Amino acid sequence: MATGPSFFNLRSASSAKTQKKTSSAVSPRPLSIGLPQVHRVMQPIHEQEKVEKTSEPFVTTNVIVPSTKIDTAPLVLDSELDNSMERALRIEGVSESHIRILRKRQALTNEPITEIMRSSEYGFLPPEGVARVLATVTNLTYFSPSQIDSVRVSEIVEVLNHHGIAMPAKFEGVLPVDVMTDNGLNTLVLAINEPSKTLAGSRLFNGLPQVYKIASERTLSTMYRRYYSNSDADVMKLFDQLSNVKVEEEEAQSLLRRFVLSLMRHACYAGASDISFSPSATKSGGDVRLKIDGVGQLFTFLPSEVWARVITHLVTTCGAQDKLQQGPVDRRFEFAEADQEEFGEIAQRYGFRVILMQRHESDNTLVTIVMRILDQQADTAELSTLGFDPETLKYIRDCKDRATGLFLVTGPTGSGKTTTLYATLNEIDPISRWVQSIENPIEYSRGLWMQFQTRQNAARNDSNSTSDEAKGAHDLLKGLLRAAPDVILFGEIRKGDIAEQLVDAGNTGHLVFSTLHNNDAALAISRLRSFDLDMSAIASLLLGILAQRLIRTLCTCAVDDYRVDTLTVLGNLAFLDEGRTGKPIKPKKAMGCVNCHGTGFRGRRMVYELLRVTPRVRELIESGASPSQIAKEGIPEDRTLVGNALRLVADGVTSIDEVKKLGPLKEASYS
Ligand SMILES: [Zn+2]
Repeated sequence: MATGPSFFNLRSASSAKTQKKTSSAVSPRPLSIGLPQVHRVMQPIHEQEKVEKTSEPFVTTNVIVPSTKIDTAPLVLDSELDNSMERALRIEGVSESHIRILRKRQALTNEPITEIMRSSEYGFLPPEGVARVLATVTNLTYFSPSQIDSVRVSEIVEVLNHHGIAMPAKFEGVLPVDVMTDNGLNTLVLAINEPSKTLAGSRLFNGLPQVYKIASERTLSTMYRRYYSNSDADVMKLFDQLSNVKVEEEEAQSLLRRFVLSLMRHACYAGASDISFSPSATKSGGDVRLKIDGVGQLFTFLPSEVWARVITHLVTTCGAQDKLQQGPVDRRFEFAEADQEEFGEIAQRYGFRVILMQRHESDNTLVTIVMRILDQQADTAELSTLGFDPETLKYIRDCKDRATGLFLVTGPTGSGKTTTLYATLNEIDPISRWVQSIENPIEYSRGLWMQFQTRQNAARNDSNSTSDEAKGAHDLLKGLLRAAPDVILFGEIRKGDIAEQLVDAGNTGHLVFSTLHNNDAALAISRLRSFDLDMSAIASLLLGILAQRLIRTLCTCAVDDYRVDTLTVLGNLAFLDEGRTGKPIKPKKAMGCVNCHGTGFRGRRMVYELLRVTPRVRELIESGASPSQIAKEGIPEDRTLVGNALRLVADGVTSIDEVKKLGPLKEASYS
């Protein structure tokens, strides 16, 4: 290697770069955590005087404020920081070899370790793990996602108002999570996702002493959306301005653009997966709806004048005006240069796929538009937090450790299949085993995976596009198998030839993960049979089939459910008595409050069933047994999709009405 031994000389490599930035001869910092010019003191400088005068006791932990005197007061000795970072990484279970890899990469690039550990880079730690490491190293308290619900927002806002501090208009990565009061003196507790955000914190909340906690990026954005964002009010303000007929044409254009973008921003903040614009049949305007947690909600009605302009704007922005007569148009939304200032945050983070449709060929006044929102920076969940019972979790983990085989996840669109697959594959060491993914679209980016997309932005104007896509996937897979992957993630099996290729891949020493669009685990076997494949090859390769759905979880406003139906269904379930010693069966039903916008539900979680491919199940698959026979053998009777969901009802996590959507409840009550 041309670089020779110095390639491994971490300290010289990083110190060369460090010294370029700071002229003072500070020692190199091999494990930088991206600390800005920040150091730790007992309390903010502007408060020191006050405290000394009154001699009041003051919170003395975890307070950091920016300082311009970095050279005279370094945060900690570099070697100390170095050691504490390594210790923190070890506590989180990062292996020695991975720590060495992190050090090498950092020596070459001087990036903060936490950046390199992000899942879009090396992904050695899940996001909450990164936050915990950062908290340990900076000596700040970690703020976990479970604390989000207990944030007393109205109290915080009251204190802010009292001190004449306005909440920032934009999300800047720092949020108040608590107010501590000691002898009438308020201290603001702020959550940040990286130490450099203390600079923004002291600027935005100037006037109050501050204490910082470290939270993950996801925790922060969840809190922002839930507690502090006024994005819906922003949209309506622009709507009012837009409705004002007196505005000049040029200004109206700019207002229109900002209205649409602020609507998109609100949808992102509200956690929506889709925005739909549907015209009213009477042509009096149209409705804007959002889909949140899989359920549609009306956002607003737009009267005809504004409606027509919004639709025309979207159609022209997407360049679809001449294409609509021929059928639905599928486009990616592009942000204009001019919008980067105001909407840069969503432009960088989210992708918008726009599907435009005309109701009749000849009538271009009735156009429906659906925007699908893709959070490109979303960090996938950890496998252990998805809600699997310990046995199922162990089974899935054993599958991902196998050298060869086929593991399938089934469920309808939007059932969280990708999340499960990513969470599973995230547990595979991407350094020692090469992971290759073929998806459309790529939902989450992973730095060490070889990720490929099949036919991006395919316009669906020709009737052959679906088969083109399948052919594209087929060719891509054929080529990529030569790139020596160990583990393959293939988005979705839709055609027999793809299934055949994947079976071949499995038989030639690859571990394959994929999804099927199916309702339950056993039906996936019928689907594979319909592809006309060699079922004995499938049977010998198959490791397991997971079927899953997302169901809504009850808001804290839920009330006890005493309905006879509910109690009868739960009363018939013998398995509810086992393993729940002392835990009462407490079913609840939805009510509705301000927090859940009257829906009675907040958030969703996964329910699942796992078909374990045992030798007996293998025999049944090969011999052409019926799906129900296979299910009976491969899925423990208390662990069916509905059975697992009813456990959640017994625990008051979801309502029986949610579970009824999954299928007939009698399936679960084995007698
Ligand atoms: Zn509620």
